Amino acid sequence: MRNFADLRLDNTYARLPEAFHARAEPTPLPDPYGVSFNTAAAALIDLSPAVEERGEWVQLFSGNHSLPGADPLAMLYAGHQFGHYVPQLGDGRAILLGEVRNLAGETWDLQLKGSGQTPFSRGFDGRSVLRSAIREYLCSEAMHGLGIPTTRALCIVGSDLPVQREEVETAATLVRMAPTHVRFGTFEVFYYRQQHEHLRTLADYVIEHHFPELREAPDRYPRFLTEVSTRTAQLMARWQTVGFAHGVMNTDNMSVLGLTIDYGPFGFMDDYDPGFIPNHTDVAGRYAFDQQPGVGMWNVGRLAQALIPLMSLEEAQAALDAYEPAFITRYTELLRAKLGLREAREEDVALIGELFGLLHTNHADFTRFFRALGGFKQDPADANALIRDLFIDWAAWNAWADRYRERLQAEGSVDTERQMRMDAVNPKYILRNYLAQNAITRATEHRDYSEIDRLLVLLRNPYDEQPEMEEYAAPPPDWGKRLVVSCSS
Ligand code: AMP
Ligand code: MG
Repeated sequence: MRNFADLRLDNTYARLPEAFHARAEPTPLPDPYGVSFNTAAAALIDLSPAVEERGEWVQLFSGNHSLPGADPLAMLYAGHQFGHYVPQLGDGRAILLGEVRNLAGETWDLQLKGSGQTPFSRGFDGRSVLRSAIREYLCSEAMHGLGIPTTRALCIVGSDLPVQREEVETAATLVRMAPTHVRFGTFEVFYYRQQHEHLRTLADYVIEHHFPELREAPDRYPRFLTEVSTRTAQLMARWQTVGFAHGVMNTDNMSVLGLTIDYGPFGFMDDYDPGFIPNHTDVAGRYAFDQQPGVGMWNVGRLAQALIPLMSLEEAQAALDAYEPAFITRYTELLRAKLGLREAREEDVALIGELFGLLHTNHADFTRFFRALGGFKQDPADANALIRDLFIDWAAWNAWADRYRERLQAEGSVDTERQMRMDAVNPKYILRNYLAQNAITRATEHRDYSEIDRLLVLLRNPYDEQPEMEEYAAPPPDWGKRLVVSCSS
Protein backbone atom coordinates (compact mmCIF):
# COMPACT_ATOMS: atom_id res chain seq x y z
CA MET A 1 0.00 0.00 0.00
CA ARG A 2 1.30 3.39 -0.97
CA ASN A 3 1.12 6.97 0.20
CA PHE A 4 0.99 9.98 -2.09
CA ALA A 5 4.75 10.47 -1.69
CA ASP A 6 5.26 7.02 -3.26
CA LEU A 7 3.26 7.82 -6.37
CA ARG A 8 5.62 8.55 -9.21
CA LEU A 9 3.65 10.17 -11.95
CA ASP A 10 4.63 9.67 -15.54
CA ASN A 11 2.97 11.40 -18.47
CA THR A 12 3.34 9.55 -21.74
CA TYR A 13 0.81 11.90 -23.34
CA ALA A 14 3.14 14.82 -22.64
CA ARG A 15 5.78 13.14 -24.81
CA LEU A 16 3.50 13.15 -27.85
CA PRO A 17 4.07 16.03 -30.30
CA GLU A 18 3.29 19.54 -29.10
CA ALA A 19 0.18 19.77 -31.26
CA PHE A 20 -1.53 17.21 -28.98
CA HIS A 21 -1.74 19.31 -25.85
CA ALA A 22 -0.95 22.52 -24.07
CA ARG A 23 0.95 22.80 -20.81
CA ALA A 24 -1.34 24.07 -18.07
CA GLU A 25 -0.88 24.50 -14.33
CA PRO A 26 -3.85 24.24 -11.97
CA THR A 27 -5.04 27.53 -10.49
CA PRO A 28 -5.19 26.83 -6.73
CA LEU A 29 -8.57 26.85 -5.02
CA PRO A 30 -8.56 29.22 -2.03
CA ASP A 31 -9.08 27.66 1.43
CA PRO A 32 -9.88 24.19 0.15
CA TYR A 33 -11.71 21.58 2.21
CA GLY A 34 -12.22 17.89 1.69
CA VAL A 35 -15.70 16.91 0.57
CA SER A 36 -15.34 13.19 -0.14
CA PHE A 37 -12.59 10.66 -0.73
CA ASN A 38 -13.28 7.37 -2.46
CA THR A 39 -11.14 4.60 -1.03
CA ALA A 40 -12.33 2.18 -3.75
CA ALA A 41 -10.83 4.36 -6.48
CA ALA A 42 -7.75 4.98 -4.34
CA ALA A 43 -7.20 1.23 -4.21
CA LEU A 44 -6.87 1.19 -8.01
CA ILE A 45 -3.56 2.99 -7.61
CA ASP A 46 -2.65 1.08 -4.43
CA LEU A 47 -3.20 4.06 -2.14
CA SER A 48 -3.63 3.04 1.46
CA PRO A 49 -7.06 3.90 2.92
CA ALA A 50 -5.12 5.79 5.62
CA VAL A 51 -4.30 8.61 3.18
CA GLU A 52 -7.87 9.83 3.54
CA GLU A 53 -7.33 10.70 7.21
CA ARG A 54 -4.04 12.45 6.63
CA GLY A 55 -5.71 14.93 4.36
CA GLU A 56 -2.82 15.82 2.00
CA TRP A 57 -5.24 15.02 -0.82
CA VAL A 58 -7.04 18.29 -0.11
CA GLN A 59 -3.91 20.32 -0.85
CA LEU A 60 -2.82 18.07 -3.71
CA PHE A 61 -6.13 18.11 -5.56
CA SER A 62 -7.03 21.73 -5.04
CA GLY A 63 -3.95 22.64 -7.03
CA ASN A 64 -2.14 23.99 -3.95
CA HIS A 65 0.57 21.29 -3.91
CA SER A 66 1.80 19.11 -6.71
CA LEU A 67 2.51 15.42 -7.00
CA PRO A 68 6.04 14.19 -7.71
CA GLY A 69 6.55 13.67 -11.43
CA ALA A 70 3.44 15.59 -12.47
CA ASP A 71 3.66 17.19 -15.91
CA PRO A 72 0.26 18.85 -16.13
CA LEU A 73 -1.34 19.48 -19.49
CA ALA A 74 -4.65 20.06 -21.20
CA MET A 75 -5.48 17.63 -24.02
CA LEU A 76 -6.54 18.97 -27.40
CA TYR A 77 -9.67 17.63 -29.06
CA ALA A 78 -12.55 18.73 -31.24
CA GLY A 79 -15.93 17.14 -31.78
CA HIS A 80 -19.40 17.08 -33.23
CA GLN A 81 -21.71 18.88 -30.83
CA PHE A 82 -25.42 18.36 -31.48
CA GLY A 83 -24.57 17.33 -35.02
CA HIS A 84 -22.22 20.20 -35.87
CA TYR A 85 -18.47 20.03 -36.08
CA VAL A 86 -16.68 22.34 -33.63
CA PRO A 87 -13.04 22.56 -34.73
CA GLN A 88 -11.48 23.20 -31.36
CA LEU A 89 -12.56 22.18 -27.89
CA GLY A 90 -9.95 20.53 -25.68
CA ASP A 91 -9.73 20.33 -21.90
CA GLY A 92 -11.09 23.74 -20.96
CA ARG A 93 -11.44 22.96 -17.30
CA ALA A 94 -9.51 19.79 -16.74
CA ILE A 95 -5.83 19.09 -16.43
CA LEU A 96 -4.15 15.76 -16.95
CA LEU A 97 -1.72 15.58 -14.03
CA GLY A 98 -0.08 12.39 -15.23
CA GLU A 99 -0.35 8.63 -15.07
CA VAL A 100 0.15 6.27 -12.19
CA ARG A 101 1.27 2.71 -12.77
CA ASN A 102 -0.18 0.41 -10.12
CA LEU A 103 1.50 -2.68 -8.74
CA ALA A 104 -0.49 -4.83 -11.17
CA GLY A 105 1.07 -2.86 -14.04
CA GLU A 106 -2.08 -0.99 -15.09
CA THR A 107 -1.82 2.72 -15.72
CA TRP A 108 -4.40 5.26 -14.61
CA ASP A 109 -4.63 8.88 -15.78
CA LEU A 110 -5.22 11.29 -12.94
CA GLN A 111 -7.23 14.19 -14.25
CA LEU A 112 -8.07 17.23 -12.17
CA LYS A 113 -11.40 18.67 -13.25
CA GLY A 114 -12.40 22.23 -12.36
CA SER A 115 -8.83 23.37 -11.76
CA GLY A 116 -9.03 26.69 -13.59
CA GLN A 117 -8.42 28.01 -17.06
CA THR A 118 -6.29 26.32 -19.67
CA PRO A 119 -5.34 27.45 -23.17
CA PHE A 120 -8.53 25.65 -24.33
CA SER A 121 -10.97 27.43 -21.99
CA ARG A 122 -12.41 29.64 -24.75
CA GLY A 123 -13.12 32.44 -22.30
CA PHE A 124 -14.94 30.25 -19.75
CA ASP A 125 -13.76 30.11 -16.15
CA GLY A 126 -12.27 26.62 -16.09
CA ARG A 127 -14.15 25.81 -12.90
CA SER A 128 -16.68 23.18 -11.85
CA VAL A 129 -19.34 23.78 -9.25
CA LEU A 130 -19.79 21.53 -6.23
CA ARG A 131 -23.23 20.45 -7.47
CA SER A 132 -21.88 19.03 -10.72
CA ALA A 133 -18.80 17.51 -9.07
CA ILE A 134 -21.09 15.58 -6.70
CA ARG A 135 -23.23 14.36 -9.60
CA GLU A 136 -20.22 13.10 -11.56
CA TYR A 137 -18.58 11.56 -8.49
CA LEU A 138 -21.68 9.63 -7.47
CA CYS A 139 -22.71 8.59 -10.94
CA SER A 140 -19.37 7.29 -12.07
CA GLU A 141 -19.14 5.12 -8.97
CA ALA A 142 -22.79 4.05 -9.35
CA MET A 143 -22.11 2.97 -12.94
CA HIS A 144 -19.07 1.04 -11.83
CA GLY A 145 -21.18 -0.66 -9.16
CA LEU A 146 -23.64 -1.65 -11.88
CA GLY A 147 -20.78 -3.20 -13.85
CA ILE A 148 -20.92 -0.61 -16.62
CA PRO A 149 -17.64 0.66 -18.09
CA THR A 150 -16.94 4.18 -16.85
CA THR A 151 -14.32 6.66 -15.76
CA ARG A 152 -13.82 6.60 -11.99
CA ALA A 153 -13.68 9.35 -9.39
CA LEU A 154 -11.11 9.64 -6.60
CA CYS A 155 -12.23 12.64 -4.56
CA ILE A 156 -13.93 16.00 -4.42
CA VAL A 157 -12.32 19.09 -2.90
CA GLY A 158 -14.48 22.16 -2.24
CA SER A 159 -13.88 25.86 -1.72
CA ASP A 160 -16.05 28.88 -0.99
CA LEU A 161 -14.80 30.50 -4.20
CA PRO A 162 -17.93 31.83 -5.91
CA VAL A 163 -18.62 30.60 -9.44
CA GLN A 164 -21.26 32.17 -11.66
CA ARG A 165 -23.67 29.79 -13.36
CA GLU A 166 -27.45 30.41 -13.65
CA GLU A 167 -26.98 31.38 -10.03
CA VAL A 168 -23.81 31.93 -8.02
CA GLU A 169 -22.53 28.61 -6.71
CA THR A 170 -19.23 27.51 -5.16
CA ALA A 171 -16.25 25.83 -6.79
CA ALA A 172 -14.99 22.28 -6.44
CA THR A 173 -12.44 20.03 -8.07
CA LEU A 174 -12.94 16.38 -8.89
CA VAL A 175 -10.17 13.89 -9.59
CA ARG A 176 -11.19 11.65 -12.45
CA MET A 177 -9.41 8.43 -13.34
CA ALA A 178 -9.37 6.40 -16.55
CA PRO A 179 -6.79 4.34 -18.43
CA THR A 180 -6.97 7.13 -21.00
CA HIS A 181 -9.15 10.17 -21.63
CA VAL A 182 -8.74 10.03 -25.44
CA ARG A 183 -12.07 10.74 -27.13
CA PHE A 184 -13.48 10.32 -30.64
CA GLY A 185 -12.90 14.06 -30.95
CA THR A 186 -9.19 13.66 -30.24
CA PHE A 187 -8.94 11.87 -33.61
CA GLU A 188 -11.35 14.21 -35.34
CA VAL A 189 -9.25 17.30 -34.66
CA PHE A 190 -6.27 15.92 -36.61
CA TYR A 191 -8.42 14.65 -39.47
CA TYR A 192 -10.15 17.99 -40.03
CA ARG A 193 -6.84 19.86 -39.71
CA GLN A 194 -5.45 17.45 -42.28
CA GLN A 195 -2.62 16.51 -39.92
CA HIS A 196 -2.63 12.89 -40.94
CA GLU A 197 0.77 12.13 -39.44
CA HIS A 198 -0.62 13.14 -36.03
CA LEU A 199 -3.64 10.96 -36.65
CA ARG A 200 -1.36 7.98 -37.13
CA THR A 201 0.73 8.90 -34.09
CA LEU A 202 -2.41 9.07 -31.96
CA ALA A 203 -3.70 5.74 -33.27
CA ASP A 204 -0.31 4.15 -32.60
CA TYR A 205 -0.25 5.63 -29.09
CA VAL A 206 -3.73 4.38 -28.21
CA ILE A 207 -3.05 0.92 -29.65
CA GLU A 208 0.35 0.67 -27.94
CA HIS A 209 -1.04 1.56 -24.52
CA HIS A 210 -4.62 0.33 -24.60
CA PHE A 211 -5.02 -2.30 -27.31
CA PRO A 212 -1.69 -4.13 -26.98
CA GLU A 213 -3.13 -7.24 -28.64
CA LEU A 214 -3.34 -5.27 -31.91
CA ARG A 215 0.23 -3.91 -31.83
CA GLU A 216 1.74 -6.28 -34.35
CA ALA A 217 -1.33 -6.73 -36.57
CA PRO A 218 -0.87 -5.41 -40.13
CA ASP A 219 -4.56 -4.41 -40.12
CA ARG A 220 -4.38 -2.85 -36.68
CA TYR A 221 -6.17 0.40 -37.57
CA PRO A 222 -9.37 -1.16 -38.91
CA ARG A 223 -9.31 -3.65 -36.06
CA PHE A 224 -8.97 -0.80 -33.58
CA LEU A 225 -11.96 0.96 -35.15
CA THR A 226 -13.97 -2.28 -35.07
CA GLU A 227 -13.13 -2.66 -31.40
CA VAL A 228 -14.28 0.89 -30.60
CA SER A 229 -17.41 0.29 -32.66
CA THR A 230 -18.39 -2.89 -30.80
CA ARG A 231 -17.46 -1.52 -27.37
CA THR A 232 -19.60 1.55 -28.00
CA ALA A 233 -22.50 -0.63 -29.15
CA GLN A 234 -22.18 -2.78 -26.04
CA LEU A 235 -22.02 0.28 -23.83
CA MET A 236 -25.27 1.52 -25.34
CA ALA A 237 -26.86 -1.86 -24.63
CA ARG A 238 -25.82 -1.47 -20.99
CA TRP A 239 -27.20 2.06 -20.71
CA GLN A 240 -30.51 1.05 -22.30
CA THR A 241 -31.04 -1.80 -19.87
CA VAL A 242 -30.56 0.28 -16.70
CA GLY A 243 -32.52 3.31 -17.92
CA PHE A 244 -29.52 5.64 -18.10
CA ALA A 245 -29.58 8.65 -20.40
CA HIS A 246 -26.25 10.45 -20.84
CA GLY A 247 -27.69 13.74 -22.00
CA VAL A 248 -24.84 15.09 -24.15
CA MET A 249 -23.54 12.40 -26.50
CA ASN A 250 -21.33 14.71 -28.52
CA THR A 251 -18.30 13.02 -30.06
CA ASP A 252 -16.02 14.87 -27.64
CA ASN A 253 -17.85 13.01 -24.87
CA MET A 254 -17.25 9.55 -26.37
CA SER A 255 -14.36 7.48 -25.02
CA VAL A 256 -12.29 5.34 -27.41
CA LEU A 257 -12.24 2.73 -24.64
CA GLY A 258 -16.04 2.49 -24.62
CA LEU A 259 -16.28 4.06 -21.16
CA THR A 260 -19.10 6.28 -19.94
CA ILE A 261 -17.41 9.67 -19.70
CA ASP A 262 -18.29 13.33 -19.04
CA TYR A 263 -21.20 13.18 -16.68
CA GLY A 264 -23.23 16.34 -17.11
CA PRO A 265 -27.02 16.54 -17.40
CA PHE A 266 -27.44 12.74 -17.27
CA GLY A 267 -30.39 10.99 -15.66
CA PHE A 268 -31.70 7.59 -14.69
CA MET A 269 -35.33 7.16 -15.66
CA ASP A 270 -37.89 6.72 -12.95
CA ASP A 271 -41.12 5.96 -14.89
CA TYR A 272 -40.37 4.18 -18.13
CA ASP A 273 -40.49 6.70 -20.94
CA PRO A 274 -38.58 5.98 -24.16
CA GLY A 275 -38.60 9.69 -25.02
CA PHE A 276 -36.96 10.67 -21.71
CA ILE A 277 -34.69 13.71 -22.17
CA PRO A 278 -32.54 14.37 -19.11
CA ASN A 279 -31.04 17.63 -20.38
CA HIS A 280 -33.65 20.36 -20.45
CA THR A 281 -31.65 22.39 -22.99
CA ASP A 282 -31.89 19.50 -25.50
CA VAL A 283 -35.28 20.71 -26.71
CA ALA A 284 -35.27 18.65 -29.89
CA GLY A 285 -34.48 15.48 -27.96
CA ARG A 286 -31.44 14.62 -30.06
CA TYR A 287 -30.09 12.73 -27.04
CA ALA A 288 -33.38 11.32 -25.76
CA PHE A 289 -33.14 7.90 -24.11
CA ASP A 290 -34.37 5.92 -27.11
CA GLN A 291 -32.04 7.77 -29.50
CA GLN A 292 -28.85 6.65 -27.77
CA PRO A 293 -28.12 3.44 -29.68
CA GLY A 294 -28.55 5.26 -33.00
CA VAL A 295 -26.51 8.24 -31.85
CA GLY A 296 -23.75 5.90 -30.68
CA MET A 297 -23.59 4.51 -34.21
CA TRP A 298 -23.64 7.96 -35.77
CA ASN A 299 -20.76 8.92 -33.51
CA VAL A 300 -18.77 5.84 -34.50
CA GLY A 301 -19.42 6.97 -38.09
CA ARG A 302 -17.74 10.30 -37.27
CA LEU A 303 -14.75 8.44 -35.86
CA ALA A 304 -14.64 6.17 -38.91
CA GLN A 305 -14.60 9.24 -41.12
CA ALA A 306 -11.69 10.68 -39.15
CA LEU A 307 -9.73 7.44 -39.51
CA ILE A 308 -10.18 7.15 -43.29
CA PRO A 309 -6.59 8.26 -43.98
CA LEU A 310 -5.45 5.12 -42.13
CA MET A 311 -7.59 2.54 -43.93
CA SER A 312 -9.68 1.77 -46.96
CA LEU A 313 -13.30 2.82 -47.24
CA GLU A 314 -14.33 -0.82 -47.18
CA GLU A 315 -12.46 -1.42 -43.93
CA ALA A 316 -14.03 1.64 -42.30
CA GLN A 317 -17.47 0.54 -43.47
CA ALA A 318 -16.96 -2.99 -42.16
CA ALA A 319 -16.02 -1.62 -38.73
CA LEU A 320 -19.14 0.53 -38.71
CA ASP A 321 -21.22 -2.44 -39.86
CA ALA A 322 -20.10 -4.33 -36.75
CA TYR A 323 -21.99 -1.87 -34.55
CA GLU A 324 -25.58 -2.92 -35.09
CA PRO A 325 -25.17 -6.68 -34.62
CA ALA A 326 -22.99 -6.04 -31.55
CA PHE A 327 -25.71 -3.84 -30.08
CA ILE A 328 -28.55 -6.23 -30.87
CA THR A 329 -26.71 -9.27 -29.55
CA ARG A 330 -25.77 -7.66 -26.25
CA TYR A 331 -29.10 -5.87 -25.84
CA THR A 332 -31.21 -9.01 -26.34
CA GLU A 333 -28.87 -11.00 -24.10
CA LEU A 334 -29.28 -8.40 -21.34
CA LEU A 335 -33.04 -8.15 -21.79
CA ARG A 336 -33.46 -11.92 -21.60
CA ALA A 337 -31.41 -11.91 -18.42
CA LYS A 338 -33.59 -9.12 -17.01
CA LEU A 339 -36.65 -11.29 -17.66
CA GLY A 340 -34.91 -14.33 -16.23
CA LEU A 341 -35.08 -16.26 -19.51
CA ARG A 342 -32.33 -18.78 -20.03
CA GLU A 343 -33.27 -19.90 -23.52
CA ALA A 344 -33.58 -17.70 -26.58
CA ARG A 345 -36.92 -18.11 -28.36
CA GLU A 346 -38.36 -16.34 -31.34
CA GLU A 347 -41.45 -15.11 -29.48
CA ASP A 348 -39.28 -13.25 -26.94
CA VAL A 349 -39.01 -10.14 -29.08
CA ALA A 350 -42.79 -9.72 -29.11
CA LEU A 351 -43.08 -10.56 -25.40
CA ILE A 352 -40.49 -7.94 -24.50
CA GLY A 353 -41.89 -5.38 -26.94
CA GLU A 354 -45.34 -5.68 -25.38
CA LEU A 355 -43.91 -5.37 -21.92
CA PHE A 356 -42.17 -2.11 -22.81
CA GLY A 357 -45.41 -0.79 -24.27
CA LEU A 358 -47.19 -1.64 -21.02
CA LEU A 359 -44.52 -0.06 -18.84
CA HIS A 360 -44.80 3.12 -20.87
CA THR A 361 -48.60 3.46 -20.94
CA ASN A 362 -48.80 2.62 -17.24
CA HIS A 363 -45.98 4.98 -16.20
CA ALA A 364 -44.42 2.08 -14.34
CA ASP A 365 -41.12 2.64 -12.57
CA PHE A 366 -38.45 0.96 -14.72
CA THR A 367 -36.08 -0.12 -11.95
CA ARG A 368 -38.75 -1.14 -9.45
CA PHE A 369 -40.60 -3.16 -12.07
CA PHE A 370 -37.65 -5.33 -13.07
CA ARG A 371 -36.53 -5.81 -9.50
CA ALA A 372 -40.07 -6.87 -8.56
CA LEU A 373 -40.36 -9.18 -11.56
CA GLY A 374 -37.63 -11.31 -10.02
CA GLY A 375 -40.18 -12.26 -7.36
CA PHE A 376 -42.78 -13.38 -9.93
CA LYS A 377 -44.49 -16.60 -8.87
CA GLN A 378 -45.58 -19.03 -11.57
CA ASP A 379 -48.35 -20.46 -9.39
CA PRO A 380 -51.57 -19.22 -11.09
CA ALA A 381 -53.17 -18.87 -7.64
CA ASP A 382 -50.62 -16.16 -6.81
CA ALA A 383 -51.82 -12.71 -7.93
CA ASN A 384 -48.26 -11.34 -7.91
CA ALA A 385 -49.79 -8.31 -6.26
CA LEU A 386 -46.52 -6.45 -5.65
CA ILE A 387 -45.82 -6.38 -9.36
CA ARG A 388 -49.42 -5.83 -10.41
CA ASP A 389 -49.65 -2.75 -8.21
CA LEU A 390 -47.04 -1.00 -10.34
CA PHE A 391 -49.62 -0.92 -13.15
CA ILE A 392 -52.74 1.17 -13.61
CA ASP A 393 -54.31 -1.29 -16.04
CA TRP A 394 -54.41 -4.56 -14.13
CA ALA A 395 -56.15 -6.47 -16.92
CA ALA A 396 -53.36 -5.63 -19.34
CA TRP A 397 -50.76 -6.67 -16.78
CA ASN A 398 -52.60 -9.94 -16.09
CA ALA A 399 -52.71 -10.74 -19.78
CA TRP A 400 -48.98 -10.18 -20.11
CA ALA A 401 -48.31 -12.12 -16.91
CA ASP A 402 -50.15 -15.14 -18.37
CA ARG A 403 -47.89 -15.13 -21.40
CA TYR A 404 -44.82 -14.67 -19.23
CA ARG A 405 -45.87 -17.60 -17.04
CA GLU A 406 -46.29 -19.82 -20.10
CA ARG A 407 -42.93 -18.73 -21.41
CA LEU A 408 -41.25 -19.56 -18.08
CA GLN A 409 -43.00 -22.93 -17.92
CA ALA A 410 -41.87 -23.71 -21.45
CA GLU A 411 -38.26 -23.65 -20.31
CA GLY A 412 -38.93 -25.33 -16.97
CA SER A 413 -38.01 -22.23 -14.98
CA VAL A 414 -37.74 -22.61 -11.20
CA ASP A 415 -38.88 -19.50 -9.31
CA THR A 416 -36.23 -19.42 -6.58
CA GLU A 417 -33.33 -20.08 -8.91
CA ARG A 418 -34.64 -17.57 -11.44
CA GLN A 419 -34.98 -14.87 -8.81
CA MET A 420 -31.33 -15.25 -7.86
CA ARG A 421 -30.28 -14.77 -11.47
CA MET A 422 -32.62 -11.82 -11.94
CA ASP A 423 -31.54 -10.03 -8.78
CA ALA A 424 -27.97 -10.15 -10.01
CA VAL A 425 -28.88 -8.17 -13.15
CA ASN A 426 -31.83 -5.99 -12.08
CA PRO A 427 -30.49 -3.39 -9.65
CA LYS A 428 -32.42 -2.48 -6.56
CA TYR A 429 -30.61 0.85 -6.12
CA ILE A 430 -29.81 3.39 -8.82
CA LEU A 431 -28.72 7.02 -8.57
CA ARG A 432 -32.14 8.56 -8.95
CA ASN A 433 -32.05 12.29 -9.53
CA TYR A 434 -33.75 13.03 -6.24
CA LEU A 435 -31.19 11.00 -4.30
CA ALA A 436 -28.35 12.96 -5.88
CA GLN A 437 -30.26 16.17 -5.22
CA ASN A 438 -30.64 15.36 -1.51
CA ALA A 439 -26.89 14.89 -1.22
CA ILE A 440 -26.29 18.14 -3.12
CA THR A 441 -28.68 20.18 -0.98
CA ARG A 442 -27.12 18.97 2.24
CA ALA A 443 -23.66 19.71 0.92
CA THR A 444 -24.31 23.13 -0.57
CA GLU A 445 -26.70 24.42 2.11
CA HIS A 446 -25.42 22.80 5.28
CA ARG A 447 -21.81 21.77 4.56
CA ASP A 448 -22.93 18.26 5.40
CA TYR A 449 -21.19 15.75 3.14
CA SER A 450 -22.33 12.59 4.89
CA GLU A 451 -25.07 11.85 2.37
CA ILE A 452 -22.49 11.69 -0.43
CA ASP A 453 -20.57 9.03 1.44
CA ARG A 454 -23.75 7.14 2.29
CA LEU A 455 -24.78 7.01 -1.39
CA LEU A 456 -21.27 6.05 -2.43
CA VAL A 457 -21.37 2.99 -0.16
CA LEU A 458 -24.96 2.11 -1.10
CA LEU A 459 -24.34 2.27 -4.84
CA ARG A 460 -21.25 0.10 -4.72
CA ASN A 461 -23.57 -2.89 -4.32
CA PRO A 462 -26.71 -1.95 -6.23
CA TYR A 463 -27.84 -5.54 -6.75
CA ASP A 464 -27.77 -6.45 -3.05
CA GLU A 465 -30.69 -6.17 -0.68
CA GLN A 466 -29.58 -3.62 1.90
CA PRO A 467 -32.53 -3.74 4.31
CA GLU A 468 -31.47 -0.71 6.37
CA MET A 469 -31.35 1.32 3.14
CA GLU A 470 -34.76 0.27 1.82
CA GLU A 471 -36.04 3.86 1.54
CA TYR A 472 -33.34 4.59 -1.08
CA ALA A 473 -35.14 2.23 -3.46
CA ALA A 474 -38.33 4.31 -3.27
CA PRO A 475 -39.69 6.07 -6.33
CA PRO A 476 -39.19 9.85 -6.32
CA PRO A 477 -41.34 12.08 -4.15
CA ASP A 478 -43.36 14.65 -6.11
CA TRP A 479 -40.65 17.32 -5.86
CA GLY A 480 -38.08 14.89 -7.25
CA LYS A 481 -39.96 13.76 -10.36
CA ARG A 482 -39.07 16.35 -12.93
CA LEU A 483 -35.94 17.97 -11.59
CA VAL A 484 -34.40 20.22 -14.20
CA VAL A 485 -30.79 19.53 -15.09
CA SER A 486 -28.92 21.56 -17.64
CA CYS A 487 -25.51 21.58 -19.30
CA SER A 488 -24.40 24.30 -16.92
CA SER A 489 -21.96 22.61 -14.62
P1 AMP B 1 -18.77 19.51 -21.58
O1 AMP B 1 -20.12 19.99 -22.00
O2 AMP B 1 -18.57 19.58 -20.08
O3 AMP B 1 -18.45 18.16 -22.11
O4 AMP B 1 -17.73 20.55 -22.17
C1 AMP B 1 -17.61 20.88 -23.53
C2 AMP B 1 -16.39 21.71 -23.74
O5 AMP B 1 -16.48 22.95 -23.03
C3 AMP B 1 -15.09 21.06 -23.26
O6 AMP B 1 -14.06 21.46 -24.11
C4 AMP B 1 -14.92 21.66 -21.89
O7 AMP B 1 -13.57 21.64 -21.47
C5 AMP B 1 -15.42 23.07 -22.10
N1 AMP B 1 -15.94 23.66 -20.85
C6 AMP B 1 -17.08 23.36 -20.20
N2 AMP B 1 -17.23 24.10 -19.09
C7 AMP B 1 -16.15 24.91 -19.02
C8 AMP B 1 -15.71 25.91 -18.11
N3 AMP B 1 -16.41 26.24 -17.03
N4 AMP B 1 -14.53 26.52 -18.38
C9 AMP B 1 -13.81 26.20 -19.45
N5 AMP B 1 -14.17 25.29 -20.35
C10 AMP B 1 -15.32 24.64 -20.15
MG1 MG C 1 -17.04 17.02 -22.46
